[in-house]
Amino acid sequence: MTTIESPAIKRIALVAHDNMKDELLAWAADHRTELAQHVLVGTGTTGRLVAEHTGLAVERLRSGPLGGDQQLGGRIADGLVDILIFFWDPLEPQPHDPDIKALLRIAAVWNIPVACNRASADFILSSPLISAPYRRDVPQYL
Ligand code: PGA
Repeated sequence: MTTIESPAIKRIALVAHDNMKDELLAWAADHRTELAQHVLVGTGTTGRLVAEHTGLAVERLRSGPLGGDQQLGGRIADGLVDILIFFWDPLEPQPHDPDIKALLRIAAVWNIPVACNRASADFILSSPLISAPYRRDVPQYL
């Protein structure tokens, strides 16, 4: 193991499945002030909707089913994402289930905080660690 630093200004990834988008938009609007202090990136549709709904700047990747989840996974592996807010749908199967599993898996491997629902997202945003540098353990092979 080794450690890498998540900076005080966090790079926060936002993803929500279609049935969960309203919930993420409501959460993002409620936390607009806090989120404005960080750097946001999202899968295509989620990113667009959050930007439209809140006026926050959100970098947009591909739509999730078209590779956006995999792009985010790559960024996590490159140490470029500090927090994953991923409201996945627990009640409906998704065509890109392998990508979803891969994203959740790589977030666990790289030891970043993951919120899969509003309560956990609230806990993460209200942590004192959200605005401080944080050294996290990460794997080191070779
Ligand atoms: P979307 O992708 O933001 O483009 O809808 C999310 C997903 O379904 O993974």
